[in-house]
Amino acid sequence: MIIAALKSSNPLDSRSPIHIDTVKRLLDLGIEIWFEEDIGKAMNIDNKIFEDVGLKKHSRENCLKNANLIITNQALDVSEIKQIKSNSTILGMVNPFNNKDLINSCSDLEINLVSMEFIPRITRAQKMDVLSSQANLAGYVAVIESAKHLSSALPMMMTAAGTLKPAKVFVIGVGVAGLQAIATAKRLGARVEAFDTRDVVEEQVNSLGAKFVKIDLGETGETDQGYAKELTEDQINKQKELQAKVCERSDIVITTAQLFGRPAPLLIDSKTIDKMNPGSVIFDMAVESGGNVEGSEADKIIERNGVKIIGISNLASKVSNHASLALSNNYNNWITDFYDKETAQINFDFEDEIIKSSVLVFEGKIKNERFQ
Ligand code: NAD
Repeated sequence: MIIAALKSSNPLDSRSPIHIDTVKRLLDLGIEIWFEEDIGKAMNIDNKIFEDVGLKKHSRENCLKNANLIITNQALDVSEIKQIKSNSTILGMVNPFNNKDLINSCSDLEINLVSMEFIPRITRAQKMDVLSSQANLAGYVAVIESAKHLSSALPMMMTAAGTLKPAKVFVIGVGVAGLQAIATAKRLGARVEAFDTRDVVEEQVNSLGAKFVKIDLGETGETDQGYAKELTEDQINKQKELQAKVCERSDIVITTAQLFGRPAPLLIDSKTIDKMNPGSVIFDMAVESGGNVEGSEADKIIERNGVKIIGISNLASKVSNHASLALSNNYNNWITDFYDKETAQINFDFEDEIIKSSVLVFEGKIKNERFQ
Protein backbone atom coordinates (compact mmCIF):
# COMPACT_ATOMS: atom_id res chain seq x y z
CA MET A 1 0.00 0.00 0.00
CA ILE A 2 1.20 3.51 -0.79
CA ILE A 3 0.27 6.33 1.55
CA ALA A 4 0.87 9.88 0.32
CA ALA A 5 0.83 12.91 2.60
CA LEU A 6 -0.12 16.22 1.00
CA LYS A 7 1.06 19.70 1.88
CA SER A 8 -1.59 22.27 2.72
CA SER A 9 -2.16 24.76 -0.07
CA ASN A 10 -3.51 27.29 2.42
CA PRO A 11 -0.58 29.63 3.22
CA LEU A 12 -2.03 30.18 6.71
CA ASP A 13 -1.93 26.47 7.48
CA SER A 14 1.66 25.49 8.16
CA ARG A 15 0.83 22.10 9.66
CA SER A 16 1.84 18.84 8.03
CA PRO A 17 -0.11 15.56 8.19
CA ILE A 18 3.07 13.58 8.79
CA HIS A 19 5.85 14.14 11.30
CA ILE A 20 9.31 12.71 11.39
CA ASP A 21 8.85 11.40 14.94
CA THR A 22 5.75 9.38 14.12
CA VAL A 23 6.12 7.80 10.67
CA LYS A 24 8.33 4.89 11.72
CA ARG A 25 5.36 2.90 12.99
CA LEU A 26 3.83 2.92 9.51
CA LEU A 27 7.11 2.03 7.80
CA ASP A 28 7.45 -0.93 10.18
CA LEU A 29 4.13 -2.26 8.87
CA GLY A 30 5.65 -2.41 5.39
CA ILE A 31 3.67 0.58 4.14
CA GLU A 32 5.33 2.77 1.51
CA ILE A 33 5.08 6.45 2.39
CA TRP A 34 5.29 9.26 -0.12
CA PHE A 35 5.19 12.92 0.72
CA GLU A 36 4.59 16.05 -1.29
CA GLU A 37 7.82 17.97 -1.76
CA ASP A 38 8.49 20.59 0.96
CA ILE A 39 5.79 19.20 3.23
CA GLY A 40 7.83 19.98 6.35
CA LYS A 41 9.16 23.36 5.24
CA ALA A 42 6.92 25.45 7.50
CA MET A 43 8.05 23.52 10.57
CA ASN A 44 11.69 23.53 9.49
CA ILE A 45 11.90 19.86 8.51
CA ASP A 46 13.80 19.45 5.28
CA ASN A 47 12.76 16.96 2.56
CA LYS A 48 16.04 15.15 3.10
CA ILE A 49 15.20 14.33 6.70
CA PHE A 50 12.06 12.50 5.58
CA GLU A 51 13.99 10.79 2.77
CA ASP A 52 16.70 9.64 5.17
CA VAL A 53 14.19 7.59 7.17
CA GLY A 54 12.80 5.95 4.03
CA LEU A 55 9.99 8.20 2.79
CA LYS A 56 9.80 9.11 -0.89
CA LYS A 57 9.50 12.65 -2.21
CA HIS A 58 7.01 13.20 -5.05
CA SER A 59 5.09 15.96 -6.81
CA ARG A 60 1.53 16.61 -5.65
CA GLU A 61 0.24 15.26 -8.95
CA ASN A 62 2.13 11.98 -8.54
CA CYS A 63 0.85 11.60 -4.99
CA LEU A 64 -2.75 12.13 -6.11
CA LYS A 65 -2.45 9.74 -9.07
CA ASN A 66 -0.70 6.84 -7.40
CA ALA A 67 -1.46 6.63 -3.68
CA ASN A 68 -3.93 4.16 -2.20
CA LEU A 69 -4.43 6.41 0.80
CA ILE A 70 -4.01 10.17 0.71
CA ILE A 71 -3.61 12.10 3.96
CA THR A 72 -4.52 15.78 3.91
CA ASN A 73 -5.21 18.53 6.43
CA GLN A 74 -7.68 20.24 4.11
CA ALA A 75 -10.43 19.41 1.64
CA LEU A 76 -9.27 18.78 -1.94
CA ASP A 77 -11.03 20.52 -4.79
CA VAL A 78 -12.93 18.64 -7.45
CA SER A 79 -10.20 18.99 -10.10
CA GLU A 80 -7.80 17.20 -7.75
CA ILE A 81 -10.32 14.51 -6.83
CA LYS A 82 -10.55 13.67 -10.53
CA GLN A 83 -6.85 12.78 -10.56
CA ILE A 84 -7.24 10.15 -7.84
CA LYS A 85 -7.82 6.55 -8.91
CA SER A 86 -11.04 4.86 -7.87
CA ASN A 87 -11.01 2.71 -4.71
CA SER A 88 -8.34 4.95 -3.17
CA THR A 89 -9.07 6.64 0.15
CA ILE A 90 -8.76 10.24 1.30
CA LEU A 91 -8.19 10.58 5.03
CA GLY A 92 -8.02 13.91 6.79
CA MET A 93 -9.62 17.09 8.02
CA VAL A 94 -11.93 17.77 5.11
CA ASN A 95 -14.42 20.21 6.66
CA PRO A 96 -17.42 18.20 5.41
CA PHE A 97 -20.11 20.66 6.52
CA ASN A 98 -18.75 23.18 4.03
CA ASN A 99 -17.68 20.79 1.29
CA LYS A 100 -20.70 19.00 -0.07
CA ASP A 101 -19.03 19.01 -3.53
CA LEU A 102 -16.15 16.97 -2.20
CA ILE A 103 -18.52 14.36 -0.76
CA ASN A 104 -20.54 14.13 -3.98
CA SER A 105 -17.42 13.91 -6.17
CA CYS A 106 -15.94 11.15 -4.01
CA SER A 107 -19.19 9.26 -4.31
CA ASP A 108 -19.39 9.72 -8.12
CA LEU A 109 -15.75 8.72 -8.64
CA GLU A 110 -15.83 5.85 -6.11
CA ILE A 111 -13.15 7.33 -3.88
CA ASN A 112 -13.49 6.56 -0.18
CA LEU A 113 -13.57 9.55 2.13
CA VAL A 114 -12.67 9.50 5.81
CA SER A 115 -13.41 12.68 7.76
CA MET A 116 -11.36 12.90 10.93
CA GLU A 117 -13.79 15.56 12.20
CA PHE A 118 -16.26 12.68 12.62
CA ILE A 119 -14.14 10.58 14.96
CA PRO A 120 -16.66 9.57 17.63
CA ARG A 121 -16.17 10.75 21.21
CA ILE A 122 -15.50 7.37 22.75
CA THR A 123 -12.51 6.46 24.88
CA ARG A 124 -10.99 4.13 22.25
CA ALA A 125 -11.02 6.93 19.67
CA GLN A 126 -9.46 9.68 21.80
CA LYS A 127 -6.02 8.98 20.28
CA MET A 128 -7.49 9.80 16.83
CA ASP A 129 -9.41 12.92 17.85
CA VAL A 130 -8.02 15.68 15.62
CA LEU A 131 -10.51 18.27 16.83
CA SER A 132 -9.32 17.85 20.41
CA SER A 133 -5.62 17.70 19.60
CA GLN A 134 -5.80 20.93 17.60
CA ALA A 135 -8.27 22.71 19.91
CA ASN A 136 -5.95 22.05 22.82
CA LEU A 137 -3.04 23.81 21.08
CA ALA A 138 -5.35 26.56 19.83
CA GLY A 139 -6.42 27.30 23.41
CA TYR A 140 -2.80 27.76 24.38
CA VAL A 141 -2.09 30.01 21.37
CA ALA A 142 -5.16 32.18 22.10
CA VAL A 143 -3.78 33.11 25.52
CA ILE A 144 -0.26 33.80 24.24
CA GLU A 145 -1.59 35.97 21.39
CA SER A 146 -3.98 37.85 23.71
CA ALA A 147 -1.19 38.51 26.20
CA LYS A 148 0.92 40.03 23.41
CA HIS A 149 -1.77 42.65 22.79
CA LEU A 150 -2.39 43.61 26.40
CA SER A 151 -0.41 46.53 27.76
CA SER A 152 -0.12 44.88 31.21
CA ALA A 153 1.63 41.75 32.42
CA LEU A 154 -0.45 38.71 33.38
CA PRO A 155 1.02 37.75 36.78
CA MET A 156 0.91 39.73 39.97
CA MET A 157 4.32 41.27 40.67
CA MET A 158 5.41 42.69 43.98
CA THR A 159 8.18 45.06 43.10
CA ALA A 160 9.99 47.87 44.89
CA ALA A 161 8.20 50.19 42.50
CA GLY A 162 4.83 48.95 43.67
CA THR A 163 2.50 45.98 43.41
CA LEU A 164 1.25 45.12 39.93
CA LYS A 165 -2.16 43.47 39.96
CA PRO A 166 -2.68 40.22 38.03
CA ALA A 167 -4.64 40.42 34.79
CA LYS A 168 -8.22 39.18 34.82
CA VAL A 169 -9.05 36.64 32.14
CA PHE A 170 -12.57 35.45 31.32
CA VAL A 171 -12.95 32.28 29.23
CA ILE A 172 -16.35 31.63 27.64
CA GLY A 173 -16.82 28.01 26.59
CA VAL A 174 -14.97 25.35 28.51
CA GLY A 175 -14.44 22.53 26.04
CA VAL A 176 -11.00 21.31 25.09
CA ALA A 177 -9.77 24.74 23.90
CA GLY A 178 -11.30 26.58 26.85
CA LEU A 179 -9.73 24.24 29.40
CA GLN A 180 -6.30 24.73 27.85
CA ALA A 181 -6.83 28.50 27.73
CA ILE A 182 -7.71 28.48 31.45
CA ALA A 183 -4.69 26.32 32.30
CA THR A 184 -2.34 28.51 30.24
CA ALA A 185 -3.65 31.78 31.69
CA LYS A 186 -3.37 30.34 35.21
CA ARG A 187 0.21 29.23 34.57
CA LEU A 188 1.00 32.78 33.45
CA GLY A 189 -0.38 34.06 36.74
CA ALA A 190 -3.68 35.59 35.65
CA ARG A 191 -6.86 35.50 37.71
CA VAL A 192 -9.27 33.41 35.66
CA GLU A 193 -13.04 33.11 35.48
CA ALA A 194 -14.95 30.86 33.08
CA PHE A 195 -18.45 30.01 31.92
CA ASP A 196 -20.06 27.23 29.89
CA THR A 197 -23.67 26.25 29.31
CA ARG A 198 -22.73 22.68 30.24
CA ASP A 199 -22.62 22.95 34.00
CA VAL A 200 -20.80 19.59 34.21
CA VAL A 201 -17.58 21.53 33.55
CA GLU A 202 -17.80 23.54 36.78
CA GLU A 203 -15.70 20.97 38.61
CA GLN A 204 -13.04 20.99 35.86
CA VAL A 205 -12.85 24.80 36.02
CA ASN A 206 -12.44 24.74 39.79
CA SER A 207 -9.81 22.02 39.63
CA LEU A 208 -7.67 24.32 37.47
CA GLY A 209 -7.86 26.99 40.14
CA ALA A 210 -10.23 29.20 38.16
CA LYS A 211 -13.69 30.41 39.18
CA PHE A 212 -16.82 29.13 37.45
CA VAL A 213 -19.28 31.95 36.75
CA LYS A 214 -22.79 30.79 37.56
CA ILE A 215 -25.43 31.97 35.12
CA ASP A 216 -28.79 30.28 35.40
CA LEU A 217 -30.16 29.81 31.88
CA GLY A 218 -32.79 27.20 32.70
CA GLU A 219 -32.50 23.91 30.86
CA THR A 220 -29.23 23.56 28.90
CA GLY A 221 -27.24 20.40 28.35
CA GLU A 222 -25.08 18.32 26.09
CA THR A 223 -25.49 15.71 23.34
CA ASP A 224 -24.40 12.08 23.79
CA GLN A 225 -21.07 13.12 22.18
CA GLY A 226 -20.47 15.80 24.82
CA TYR A 227 -21.27 18.74 22.53
CA ALA A 228 -23.38 21.66 23.78
CA LYS A 229 -27.04 21.84 22.81
CA GLU A 230 -28.13 25.03 21.04
CA LEU A 231 -29.71 27.66 23.31
CA THR A 232 -33.01 29.40 22.60
CA GLU A 233 -32.93 33.10 21.65
CA ASP A 234 -34.18 34.03 25.14
CA GLN A 235 -31.43 31.99 26.78
CA ILE A 236 -28.75 33.62 24.61
CA ASN A 237 -30.06 37.09 25.48
CA LYS A 238 -30.03 36.25 29.18
CA GLN A 239 -26.49 34.88 28.92
CA LYS A 240 -25.28 38.01 27.11
CA GLU A 241 -26.82 40.26 29.72
CA LEU A 242 -25.45 38.40 32.75
CA GLN A 243 -21.97 37.72 31.42
CA ALA A 244 -21.54 41.36 30.33
CA LYS A 245 -20.64 42.29 33.92
CA VAL A 246 -17.80 39.75 33.91
CA CYS A 247 -16.57 41.08 30.54
CA GLU A 248 -16.55 44.64 31.93
CA ARG A 249 -14.17 43.69 34.72
CA SER A 250 -11.89 41.51 32.53
CA ASP A 251 -8.66 42.48 30.80
CA ILE A 252 -8.82 39.54 28.40
CA VAL A 253 -11.97 37.73 27.24
CA ILE A 254 -11.43 34.54 25.27
CA THR A 255 -14.47 33.05 23.56
CA THR A 256 -14.41 29.42 22.43
CA ALA A 257 -18.13 28.59 22.17
CA GLN A 258 -18.94 26.25 19.30
CA LEU A 259 -21.87 24.09 18.21
CA PHE A 260 -20.86 21.02 16.20
CA GLY A 261 -21.90 21.38 12.55
CA ARG A 262 -23.66 24.70 13.12
CA PRO A 263 -22.58 28.36 13.23
CA ALA A 264 -21.13 29.49 16.55
CA PRO A 265 -23.46 31.50 18.83
CA LEU A 266 -22.99 35.28 18.97
CA LEU A 267 -22.27 35.91 22.65
CA ILE A 268 -20.63 39.33 22.89
CA ASP A 269 -22.36 42.24 21.22
CA SER A 270 -21.24 45.83 20.70
CA LYS A 271 -23.18 46.98 23.77
CA THR A 272 -20.98 44.79 25.97
CA ILE A 273 -17.78 45.76 24.15
CA ASP A 274 -18.58 49.44 24.69
CA LYS A 275 -18.68 48.88 28.45
CA MET A 276 -15.26 47.21 28.55
CA ASN A 277 -12.13 49.11 29.52
CA PRO A 278 -10.04 50.58 26.69
CA GLY A 279 -6.89 48.51 26.31
CA SER A 280 -8.65 45.22 27.04
CA VAL A 281 -8.58 42.36 24.56
CA ILE A 282 -11.27 40.05 23.21
CA PHE A 283 -10.02 36.94 21.43
CA ASP A 284 -12.68 35.23 19.30
CA MET A 285 -11.63 31.61 18.87
CA ALA A 286 -14.84 30.84 16.97
CA VAL A 287 -14.11 33.43 14.27
CA GLU A 288 -13.84 30.78 11.54
CA SER A 289 -17.23 29.27 12.28
CA GLY A 290 -19.28 32.46 12.39
CA GLY A 291 -17.80 34.15 15.45
CA ASN A 292 -18.83 34.63 19.07
CA VAL A 293 -18.10 38.36 19.00
CA GLU A 294 -19.87 41.08 17.04
CA GLY A 295 -17.50 42.65 14.52
CA SER A 296 -14.71 40.08 14.79
CA GLU A 297 -12.99 39.16 11.53
CA ALA A 298 -10.58 36.35 10.69
CA ASP A 299 -6.92 37.43 10.63
CA LYS A 300 -7.70 40.98 11.66
CA ILE A 301 -7.51 43.05 14.79
CA ILE A 302 -10.53 45.32 14.99
CA GLU A 303 -10.47 48.18 17.50
CA ARG A 304 -13.67 49.45 19.04
CA ASN A 305 -13.41 52.18 21.70
CA GLY A 306 -9.89 51.04 22.47
CA VAL A 307 -10.89 47.37 22.89
CA LYS A 308 -8.97 45.05 20.58
CA ILE A 309 -11.03 42.29 19.01
CA ILE A 310 -8.75 39.58 17.65
CA GLY A 311 -9.58 36.77 15.25
CA ILE A 312 -6.89 34.43 13.93
CA SER A 313 -7.55 31.52 11.60
CA ASN A 314 -5.64 28.22 11.78
CA LEU A 315 -4.58 28.93 15.36
CA ALA A 316 -2.80 25.61 15.88
CA SER A 317 -0.54 26.50 12.92
CA LYS A 318 1.18 29.04 15.17
CA VAL A 319 2.74 26.03 16.89
CA SER A 320 3.04 24.00 13.71
CA ASN A 321 5.64 21.54 14.93
CA HIS A 322 3.53 20.33 17.84
CA ALA A 323 0.32 20.61 15.83
CA SER A 324 1.82 18.40 13.09
CA LEU A 325 3.12 15.90 15.62
CA ALA A 326 -0.31 15.58 17.22
CA LEU A 327 -2.13 15.40 13.87
CA SER A 328 0.28 12.85 12.51
CA ASN A 329 -0.27 10.68 15.58
CA ASN A 330 -4.05 11.04 15.20
CA TYR A 331 -3.90 9.92 11.54
CA ASN A 332 -1.39 7.13 12.24
CA ASN A 333 -3.58 5.75 15.01
CA TRP A 334 -6.55 5.53 12.64
CA ILE A 335 -4.43 3.84 9.98
CA THR A 336 -2.71 1.32 12.27
CA ASP A 337 -6.01 0.36 13.95
CA PHE A 338 -7.65 -0.48 10.63
CA TYR A 339 -4.73 -1.62 8.47
CA ASP A 340 -4.74 -5.32 7.73
CA LYS A 341 -1.16 -6.48 7.29
CA GLU A 342 -2.17 -9.73 5.55
CA THR A 343 -4.10 -8.07 2.74
CA ALA A 344 -2.13 -4.80 2.90
CA GLN A 345 -5.43 -2.91 2.84
CA ILE A 346 -7.64 -0.91 5.15
CA ASN A 347 -10.31 -3.07 6.74
CA PHE A 348 -13.51 -1.03 6.34
CA ASP A 349 -15.58 -2.86 8.94
CA PHE A 350 -18.79 -0.90 9.31
CA GLU A 351 -19.62 -2.80 12.50
CA ASP A 352 -16.84 -0.76 14.09
CA GLU A 353 -18.08 2.46 15.66
CA ILE A 354 -15.08 4.51 14.52
CA ILE A 355 -15.36 3.35 10.89
CA LYS A 356 -19.12 3.86 10.94
CA SER A 357 -18.78 7.43 12.13
CA SER A 358 -15.67 8.64 10.30
CA VAL A 359 -16.10 7.07 6.84
CA LEU A 360 -18.39 9.41 4.94
CA VAL A 361 -18.10 7.78 1.51
CA PHE A 362 -17.34 4.12 0.75
CA GLU A 363 -17.44 2.31 -2.60
CA GLY A 364 -19.45 5.12 -4.18
CA LYS A 365 -22.07 5.34 -1.43
CA ILE A 366 -22.51 8.26 0.96
CA LYS A 367 -22.60 6.45 4.30
CA ASN A 368 -23.34 9.30 6.69
CA GLU A 369 -27.02 10.21 6.60
CA ARG A 370 -26.31 13.91 7.34
CA PHE A 371 -24.82 14.22 3.85
CA GLN A 372 -27.19 11.98 1.86
P1 NAD B 1 -16.86 22.54 21.19
O1 NAD B 1 -15.62 22.92 20.46
O2 NAD B 1 -18.00 22.02 20.39
O3 NAD B 1 -17.40 23.83 21.98
C1 NAD B 1 -16.58 24.55 22.88
C2 NAD B 1 -17.32 24.81 24.16
O4 NAD B 1 -18.29 25.84 23.95
C3 NAD B 1 -18.09 23.61 24.72
O5 NAD B 1 -17.65 23.34 26.03
C4 NAD B 1 -19.54 24.08 24.69
O6 NAD B 1 -20.30 23.56 25.77
C5 NAD B 1 -19.37 25.58 24.81
N1 NAD B 1 -20.55 26.38 24.43
C6 NAD B 1 -21.46 26.20 23.44
N2 NAD B 1 -22.38 27.19 23.47
C7 NAD B 1 -22.05 28.02 24.51
C8 NAD B 1 -22.61 29.21 25.05
N3 NAD B 1 -23.72 29.75 24.55
N4 NAD B 1 -21.98 29.78 26.11
C9 NAD B 1 -20.87 29.24 26.66
N5 NAD B 1 -20.30 28.11 26.19
C10 NAD B 1 -20.89 27.51 25.13
O7 NAD B 1 -16.56 21.53 22.38
P2 NAD B 1 -15.30 20.56 22.60
O8 NAD B 1 -14.11 21.30 22.96
O9 NAD B 1 -15.24 19.70 21.42
O10 NAD B 1 -15.71 19.71 23.88
C11 NAD B 1 -17.01 19.34 24.26
C12 NAD B 1 -16.91 18.28 25.36
O11 NAD B 1 -16.55 17.01 24.84
C13 NAD B 1 -15.87 18.62 26.42
O12 NAD B 1 -16.39 18.35 27.68
C14 NAD B 1 -14.75 17.66 26.12
O13 NAD B 1 -13.97 17.37 27.25
C15 NAD B 1 -15.52 16.47 25.62
N6 NAD B 1 -14.69 15.57 24.80
C16 NAD B 1 -14.77 14.21 24.99
C17 NAD B 1 -14.00 13.35 24.22
C18 NAD B 1 -14.07 11.86 24.41
O14 NAD B 1 -14.68 11.40 25.33
N7 NAD B 1 -13.45 11.12 23.56
C19 NAD B 1 -13.17 13.86 23.24
C20 NAD B 1 -13.11 15.24 23.06
C21 NAD B 1 -13.89 16.09 23.84
